[in-house]
Order: sequence, then C-alpha cells, then structure tokens
Amino acid sequence: MSSLALRLARPELLALPPFDIGTRDTGTGDIISLDANENPFPPLSSSALDAGINRYPEPQPVRLCRIMSSLYGVAPDQLVVTRGADDAIDLLVRAFCRAGEDAILVAAPTFSAYAHFAHLQGARVANAQLTKDFDLDTGAFLEAARAEPALKLAFICSPNNPTGNPVPPAQLLEIAEALPNTIIVVDEAYIEFSELRSLAEEAAKRANLVVLRTLSKAYGLAGARIGAAISNAEMIGVLRRALPPYPLPTLSIEAALVALAPARRAVHQDRIDRIKAERARMADRLAASPLVRTVRNGGGNFLFLEVEDAPALARRFDQLGIRVRFRETAAAGGVRLTIGTPEENEAVLAALGVGITCVEGRRAEVARDTRETSIAVAVDLDRSAPRRIATGIPFYDHMLDQVAAHGGFSLILSCDGDLDIDGHHSIEDCAIAFGSALARALGKRQGIGRFGFALPMDEADAHVLIDLSGRPCGVFEGRFEASHIGNYPTEMTSHVFRSLAESLGAAIHVRVSGQNDHHKTEACFKAFGRALRQAIRVEGGDVPSTKGML
Ligand SMILES: *Cc1c(COP(=O)(O)O)cnc(C)c1O
Repeated sequence: MSSLALRLARPELLALPPFDIGTRDTGTGDIISLDANENPFPPLSSSALDAGINRYPEPQPVRLCRIMSSLYGVAPDQLVVTRGADDAIDLLVRAFCRAGEDAILVAAPTFSAYAHFAHLQGARVANAQLTKDFDLDTGAFLEAARAEPALKLAFICSPNNPTGNPVPPAQLLEIAEALPNTIIVVDEAYIEFSELRSLAEEAAKRANLVVLRTLSKAYGLAGARIGAAISNAEMIGVLRRALPPYPLPTLSIEAALVALAPARRAVHQDRIDRIKAERARMADRLAASPLVRTVRNGGGNFLFLEVEDAPALARRFDQLGIRVRFRETAAAGGVRLTIGTPEENEAVLAALGVGITCVEGRRAEVARDTRETSIAVAVDLDRSAPRRIATGIPFYDHMLDQVAAHGGFSLILSCDGDLDIDGHHSIEDCAIAFGSALARALGKRQGIGRFGFALPMDEADAHVLIDLSGRPCGVFEGRFEASHIGNYPTEMTSHVFRSLAESLGAAIHVRVSGQNDHHKTEACFKAFGRALRQAIRVEGGDVPSTKGML
C-alpha cells in the first residue's frame, strides 16, 4: 500500500520535510510550554460546546465576518476567515502560484510556513536576507523581487517570527508601491503585542496588499484555528474560491464569537499589556544572564535570544520540563522564548541563572553594636520562614514575631542587651536594627506598594498606616493603664514605632484604643505586620511614586 502511495504521490510532496512544529503532546501537566508563541491564558470563553454541531456551519459565518472585519477596520467583503493564518498562507499560494512556474519571495530568517506551502505547491522560493540585525533591507528585497520574473507573492512578517523585529508601515507601503505586479503579504500575527499600526485598512484599499491576522496569539485561541486574510474585495473573492466547502468548524466559530464579545475586550487588552510588561521584565533580567549573549525584545509575545551553549541549555530546559524553540538556522545559538505567565517566566529565569538574584535583592542583614546592646538581624521579604526572635524580653519577642508572621516574611533577630538596667535600650535598639534591615531589604523600593492598613483584636482596635516614602514620620495615639506586660514596659510601644519609622524611612501612624493592654499592644504589632505585608508586596516593576524614586 505504502509503495503505491509513494509511487503516485507528487514528488515535491515527498521531497518536503514534515512541517516543523516541535513537540505537541498535552498529556503531561508539568511541562512549561514556551515554544509555540501561544497565549498562556486560556480563552475567555465557556459556552463554545453549546453550538449545534449536527448542522454544517456557514462557510463564511456572517456574524463572525462582521465582528472580525470591524475589529480590523474593514468591510466584511474585504476579509476571508480562515483556519488560522497558516491556512490563509496556503490559500494564497494555491490561488496564485502555478506548480513549476511561479515563485514567492521571503525575507529570511522568517516564519517557515511561507516556504513550506510554496514547496508543497511546487512554487519556487526566493530569499532576500534580512540585515545582520534582522531588519528588512528594502534594497535587497526589491532586488531579489526583480530578479524573479514569475514572482507572484512576497511575504513579510511584521513583527517578524522568530526575531521579533517590527517593520515600519511606511517601509512596507514603499515596497508595495515599488512592486505593483506582485502581491505583498504582510503577516501581522503578532501585531497586537507591538506598537505598530496595522496595514489592514490600507490592504482593503490597495490592489496588491494582503494582511494576515489571527486570533491564535492575542486572543488565546490557538486551538480554535481562526485567522483571516484582509485585502480588496476582488482579492478576497479569489481567495474564497479556493476554500473547501465548510472550512470552519462550528465549535471554533462559537469560540471566536465568545472571545470577541465586546465585554471581553478590556480583559484581553489587559492580558496583552501584561504579556508586554513581562516581555520587558524578562528582557531586562535575561540581559544579566551569563548564558545569554543577546536579547532581542521585539514586538511579539516572545523574545529572541542568542545563547552561549545551545546544546547544554537544551538539556537543562529538557530536564526542567521547559519547552522553547531553538532556532539555529536564524542565528547561532538562536532561541525563541514565548512569554508565559509570571510563574513560568520565573522558571526560565532560574534555569538561566538569573532567578534567585532578585529574591536575594530583598534580603538584608544588619549588625548593630553599641555599649548598651549588640544586635544581629536578617530579613528576607520573599520568604515567610524562618522566624527566630530572641530579644531577651519574651513579650517583645512575641510582638516582633507577630510582625513577621503577619508581614509574611522571614525574620531572624537576636539581641544581647543591658537588661540588668531595664528593657528600654534593647527594645529601642532592636526596633532601629529591624527597621534598618527592612529598609535595606527593600532596596530601591521597586515594585512595592506604599500604603498599608489595620485590624481589631477582641475589644481592642488598632489602625496602622504606612507609607514607605523614605521620609521618617512616626505618629502614635493611644494610652496604656499598666506600666509593664511581663518585663516589657508598655510605654516602649510608641518608642518602637517611632524608631521603626526613623530607621525604615517610613511614615508610620498608629492609633489604638480598647481596655486590655496586652490586646492593645498585640493589636498594634499585628496590624503593623499586616500593613507591612501589603506595603512590601511586589506589585510591578515600577517605583510606586510619580517622582520615580522613594
Ligand atoms: C503563529 C503564526 C501564524 C499562524 O497562526 P495561526 O492563525 O495559528 O495559523 C502565522 N504567522 C506567523 C508569523 C506566526 O508566527
């Protein structure tokens, strides 16, 4: 059987290597898939399975065509919905290239599907090299185009896969104008992740421009296989002739309609913004990796890296269950790394030796020695354990432990002080050392929140407000009846918060009321811990001040 198939098959089909898509098993849960430029967030759709699949779908669903054409700013007859943008590439090649006669042009290195479908169709593939920085070289591109007499289609990917380079719209239009007898296909699969202006509206107006779009990347619908080609109505009419009778599965149409519902737009935009922010963060961090030579932060939902030792890195990623795409044909040591969720990205950073350093950055040790006390403190804001506190004053230990426990960080603090006099020096100096350690651990205070708040404890009621502003200001309102709790003098509580404000460089306002001094004191420390927990939480990469520094 197979020999008959092999005998009858078109030789150009047998000559083709299988389409290069990497591994695609979905069985194991632990794999981090950063190899296919998918959106890491599952689609915002739920009701896709409700569709009636006993019926054939509309070949070009009217509602979906209308929504997609308005999304891309064109009329419904200026767009054909395809099974992903890949299918649109195939349609174009089949519609325009005669086997053995016609040719396409690509700007290498780029997305491999253009050449793949051309080879399958028996069309020639001409190459124009990108510059050494992977930018489109207009001169070289036009020269290659003019050298090919039977050129039908010229593909340009912007932002380019795998390098990420955006091609300015003006440059693309210049090329379209210089080649009036060639169809210029601009693949905008990643444009949502870039700052580029789409050429969709231009494509609808021009004779020789086609724009490709997809819901796979920006809308997290890679599995639904929905894309589009956009051009003038005549061009679209030709492409529709090459479609099979019912190209789009009903389930995919439904999934696309749900995903594109107006109410979901804002969440999709937010996801895109988060992926872009993560891309910038990753680019920054990866630049510090000794295993990475260059990082290209282009316009896609991915980065293009050139790494030092690709085989070693491939083994390491493999062991860790992290999938990325090695792109040696694009550049020596080339790796295309899809931006995943922050947790997935952290796993990549750790694999590249730049994961733990940031956590190290929120750790500090302070040693403080005077004639009255000797203190050592270590805090780690990114770990919740261990907590080991020994000030020599058990009640105070308990209070500081509350701060760390409720603050959610590790605190090791020990003090050897002149308790034979009384607790005053130890308590105050511990607060100063603790505050200094916190200040040091916070570093430039990048990505931290400024404000915290408060809590009740039985009848007692404590409010704590923190601004990690860098400007010390302690305010304490409250009174205690007893002079001591154990060997802890109650009057020290206001001192402690003032010392913390000074050494931490923060405004700390504490207000407490109630009956029981133990409750009141404990409520203050707990509330301070809770407020601190919020204030020190990393919420982004930016310093939370309009001044740009704290
Ligand atoms: C992913 C990708 C596509 C294909 O997207 P689908 O719509 O999923 O087929 C097209 N072009 C480029 C450059 C891509 O990277």
